[in-house]
Amino acid sequence: MTELLSATPEGIARAAALLREGKLVAFGTETVYGLGADATKGDAVAAIFAAKQRPRFNPLISHFPDADSAFAHVAATQAARLLAEEFWPGPLTLVLPRLPATPIHDLTGAGLPTLAIRVPASETARALLRSAGLPIAAPSANRSGQVSPTSAQHVLSELDGRIEAILDSGPCAVGLESTILDLSGPRPVLLRPGGISREALEEILGPIARAESDDHAPRAPGMLRSHYAPRLPVRLSATSIAPTEALLAFGPPLTGGCTTFSLSASGDLTEAATRLFAGLRALDATPGASAIAVMPIPHHGLGLALNDRLERAAAPRG
Ligand code: AMP
Ligand code: MG
Repeated sequence: MTELLSATPEGIARAAALLREGKLVAFGTETVYGLGADATKGDAVAAIFAAKQRPRFNPLISHFPDADSAFAHVAATQAARLLAEEFWPGPLTLVLPRLPATPIHDLTGAGLPTLAIRVPASETARALLRSAGLPIAAPSANRSGQVSPTSAQHVLSELDGRIEAILDSGPCAVGLESTILDLSGPRPVLLRPGGISREALEEILGPIARAESDDHAPRAPGMLRSHYAPRLPVRLSATSIAPTEALLAFGPPLTGGCTTFSLSASGDLTEAATRLFAGLRALDATPGASAIAVMPIPHHGLGLALNDRLERAAAPRG
């Protein structure tokens, strides 16, 4: 059963305690209801994907109670600070290079060198974030493919029994997703239009480019703008291993190969999800390896998202 918590000091304290225990808690923001989890804990973040039945690991936005706590995890630019001053708290998400020392798990950022950060305007959301004292990863609190929820009832109708609690702060004021602005490159790029208009951003930054393609409209397989791709070729469903190949193992590992990284020796999909990006990166850096060979991963639950990401990593690059 999912607990329905009210936006009282007690309800907020309970929701924060659950988040600190690594549980999933949906909470209202001014945009939509988010499905929150401790962004520093891989298995808590993996649980978000499992609860949403999301078939892919896309990067999640980390939420903070104020700009200082958000900027502690990224290399903030002058432009980022100006925008934060103007639009935070509010429906603006900034993408910036992640700092090497950040405790935010790489599953939260889908293995990317950047992180998406936001300070929501909702008072209740910020009280929760302050009380949790952790970066909170939160995509919209709906099942994959459904519309974003703007009330606690919407969340309940899709995720009852699949998440620990919902902090009910009433209907969302904006009801539209946050604007996502990528400040990690040489020029700002608008990745998603949303609650803050492009014109409002341009008043501060000057002209802003629009992303050529979004995550869902790849230019070519394996060429998605926002996903991590290894340098070495990737061979899927490996049931044998060549001496020069680096093995990404699932379950009892094959023997042979030049090195092995185990996603999960016991064949646990959640554990595998938390180790996927670290594993790809470690094997990719193996001196002299000719390819990464990946053992078969069952195609159910989190296996869908694992296989999706591995298929993208294996796709020919243009
Ligand atoms: P949602 O949380 O479901 O509203 O979606 C979050 C959006 O932020 C997705 O479209 C992500 O692809 C995007 N996003 C999050 N982090 C990054 C990042 N580091 N780089 C690019 N896009 C990001
Ligand atoms: Mg969504």
